[in-house]
Amino acid sequence: MVALLTPADRAAFIRCRRQWDLGARARRNLEPMLAVEPLDVDRAVRDALAVYYFPGMWDWSRVIVLPLVKKALDDALARQAAQMGAGDTPGFDDRAASAQALLDAYLAWAPTVERLSPVLIEVDYEVDLPDPDRPEDGLFAANGEHIRYRGRADEVAVDEHDAYWIVRHRVVREWTALDALVRDEEAAAACWAWERFYIGMEIAGTIHNEMRLPSAAERERAPAAGAGSADLLQRGGVPQHEASGGGRSIPQHRRLYARASEPALLERVVHDRGPWFRRTWIRRTRPEVHQAGHLLATEAREMFGDNVAVYPSPSESSCRRCAFAAPCLALYEGRHREAEAVLTSSYRAARHADVVEGRLGGVSWSVGRGAAPPRFGGTEQDRAPS
Ligand code: SF4
Repeated sequence: MVALLTPADRAAFIRCRRQWDLGARARRNLEPMLAVEPLDVDRAVRDALAVYYFPGMWDWSRVIVLPLVKKALDDALARQAAQMGAGDTPGFDDRAASAQALLDAYLAWAPTVERLSPVLIEVDYEVDLPDPDRPEDGLFAANGEHIRYRGRADEVAVDEHDAYWIVRHRVVREWTALDALVRDEEAAAACWAWERFYIGMEIAGTIHNEMRLPSAAERERAPAAGAGSADLLQRGGVPQHEASGGGRSIPQHRRLYARASEPALLERVVHDRGPWFRRTWIRRTRPEVHQAGHLLATEAREMFGDNVAVYPSPSESSCRRCAFAAPCLALYEGRHREAEAVLTSSYRAARHADVVEGRLGGVSWSVGRGAAPPRFGGTEQDRAPS
């Protein structure tokens, strides 16, 4: 058995331990029965971008791909509408219109800045955490289970210099402060975890692809999506079939022959900007990546240790959108039985978007990798290559 730690659970632990205690899968694992958000635009747009950046179609004419991308967004919106009963949800249509305008504008803008070829999209990774004090040993929870970190990369891509990047697509209301992006522990931990999951692939850094949701007035001035319909060589990006760069043959190519051939002078942070878009490239140094893994393991040890302290950390930013605001308030006022009653009547066991068979981008570790992920402990049979 393993004790799973996800980026969301870790973020909750850092933000507010009461929120973490109620929602984390290794704790009470609760979620509200009613959706808090009227529509998850971020999820819907990322579903569409998973089609746009699908490696197997990267070389295809955009005349074929763009309708599939738009259909993916429509399907995602319809799926959410069916789940939520959209007719009863105020603001659903307005947010859906914003999502469609945002995607159209992105399809026009992205080809003007593309310097990547996608390798994998929506790909899961899992690594056993090492003991932060004895990195050669595994890290165990108080109940003896291995602690395993599981995350999902929106996209892994290779640039024109054969350097690999982890890409995050996010719909935002305003730009994230650059400091926050540079100090994004989840992103740095993703680099560390991916390198342990996919042996032999070094990650140059993270790309934060922010898409700002337009207002109704801005939607009226949305650019047309026509620029995205050109073929690949005209629309930018690294073709898949070239010797340098390319998604389909990357694992073998990278492992045996390729070395990143980057310019001597590299900038730490580079921005690509558009009216509603900001793509920030952040290089991650080797010490930074190693330190991210150490910090992750240190926090995991506390989370899964005996007698971890649980307490609320109220703040404007954390509480405003907290799914546990009502029971938390009852706990604050000393109404413990009432808080429990609310948790029982209005919350259920959380359903997690884990590995789903057939999910676009979902792969097992053995596809094109050539090596099993490192595992600590277990039997000799577990550790033997299959
Ligand atoms: S409402 Fe605030 S203090 Fe309470 S659990 Fe949520 S984030 Fe923590």
